[in-house]
Amino acid sequence: MNLHSENRSIPEPGPGEVQLRMQDAGICATDVHFWKNGEIANFTLTSPICLGHEASGVVSKLGQEVTNLAVGDRVAVEPAVPCQMCVLCKRGRYNLCRELRSCAKPPIDGNLANYYCHSANFCHKLPDNVNNEEGALLEPLSVAVHACQRAGVRIDSTVLISGAGPIGLLCYLTAKAMGAKQICVTEVDDNRLKFAKKIGVHHTLSVKSGTSEELASQIETTLGQRPEISIECSGNPTGLRNCMLATGNGGCVVMVGLQPDDVTVPLLDTALREVDIIGSLRYVNCFPIALALIVTGKVDVKPLITHRYKLEDSVKAFEHAHSMHDGSVKIIIHCDQD
Ligand SMILES: [Zn+2]
Ligand SMILES: [Zn+2]
Repeated sequence: MNLHSENRSIPEPGPGEVQLRMQDAGICATDVHFWKNGEIANFTLTSPICLGHEASGVVSKLGQEVTNLAVGDRVAVEPAVPCQMCVLCKRGRYNLCRELRSCAKPPIDGNLANYYCHSANFCHKLPDNVNNEEGALLEPLSVAVHACQRAGVRIDSTVLISGAGPIGLLCYLTAKAMGAKQICVTEVDDNRLKFAKKIGVHHTLSVKSGTSEELASQIETTLGQRPEISIECSGNPTGLRNCMLATGNGGCVVMVGLQPDDVTVPLLDTALREVDIIGSLRYVNCFPIALALIVTGKVDVKPLITHRYKLEDSVKAFEHAHSMHDGSVKIIIHCDQD
């Protein structure tokens, strides 16, 4: 797919929306995947789209009926806006709303732009001690909060995290903040393992070689017991298989990384040991929690930012994100001109 920047007119906020002067935006693996493959999960590109869904901005204009924000407020954008009317929304599972409209999910444009309009209800005001880059990282941190909540991470949990990309590392930081006692992070890429160690992961394990059975027993040795919770963030079928075999009886595996649709996994073994397989999609009311984790200093996301680009160098930034194996973790694009 062709990736380029273009000039567009500045959008005007509709009722209930605010216009944002965009500040910082993180590049996500899904953005890169979209660019390279033109599709992801059940979304296919049929016309050009603006990428970007991990972003912060400053309110530059208020649409009608907006009362919760003022011009000049700095906000983190919660990109997926549900209908707020259906049964799922009313039950508080708004991430599963079938009418959900999300930044950079066809046909809706993303927010890698100078200006963007978004539902004021889904903009989260940032306090003075949280900067715009941290604001941008609230989105992937919310993914981690939701995954840890789905997994039931609590004080004393023993956790396996498969994959040391940005989401895996944010799951690590979140699980630790939620009180997990032992956490093992597995990864195939040596640079990423090194980086995980650098941000404080004690138990790292290379899963580059070895059968899933061998790796499961290495994970048990590393943690001193089998994990009660496994959070699969690599999207790799082998990673999922490792998680299923490694998780202790009665535990659970949360699937965060996007797996292919058809995967061969040890289902019977998992079922007979009552290991629950749990899906995880985006976040539900997680932005306030993610923000609290940052404000209270329980999670520091700043070390995850390894590279920064300007908006006009976006193509270079995406090429960098695509090459990936140089130890880069989170690449941030600064959208504002100053
Ligand atoms: Zn993302
Ligand atoms: Zn809904």
